[in-house]
Amino acid sequence: MRRKYPIVCLLLGLALAALCAARGEVPASAEADLPAGEKYVALTFDDGPNAATTGRLLDGLKERGVRATFFLIGQKIGESPELVVRMAEEGHQIGNHTWSHRKLEGPCAGQVEEEVSRTEEALRDLLGEGEFWLRPPYGYVSEGAEKSFDVPLVRWSVDPRDWESRNAEQSAQAILRDVKPNSIILLHDIYPTSVEAALRVVDRLQEEGYWFVTVEELLCLNGIDAEPGSIYREG
Ligand SMILES: [Zn+2]
Repeated sequence: MRRKYPIVCLLLGLALAALCAARGEVPASAEADLPAGEKYVALTFDDGPNAATTGRLLDGLKERGVRATFFLIGQKIGESPELVVRMAEEGHQIGNHTWSHRKLEGPCAGQVEEEVSRTEEALRDLLGEGEFWLRPPYGYVSEGAEKSFDVPLVRWSVDPRDWESRNAEQSAQAILRDVKPNSIILLHDIYPTSVEAALRVVDRLQEEGYWFVTVEELLCLNGIDAEPGSIYREG
């Protein structure tokens, strides 16, 4: 009897991995490397792209076979379009972090909408059609306002406050203390210390048997069909 549950999990995981791949939510190259029943976690990076640091991060993720999710600031996309194209080519998920990192609140609904739609347009111009999930700056949207967005919204479950400490070891330790399977981890690829922290965390967690996937993959692997206007903070 004790063996039954793992077998059911294994079969369910296999079915979900196949379904996620079939839905086109996993890059073709990634289909083969989403085994069932593993510990999955999603790294997310906000506030880029940044010419001085994001390339080094992409190199490190590629070396380690890791896909992540990047929530980009619209007005920075034009400064480093090659980095954004590279993210897409290397299987990372790309999302929207507004045009100018504006907090999505207040009475100026038109401006809020423009912050999001202008970034979407910049991404479409560069990458073609696609759905670019939204991470609101500071994780904040006015109560109920999330329903007005036509993509899923993503918060996080692990926050090492890397922007505050600007210390790679401290940020890495904070993540390692709080992480568990299906965590969504928040980092900012605009700081060299955060890039270093991310790569240390990957090395450590891969040793512990963790697999790194995009947020979209993480939700899908958990049988969650992400819906527009809903907020997700873990898998
Ligand atoms: Zn931000």
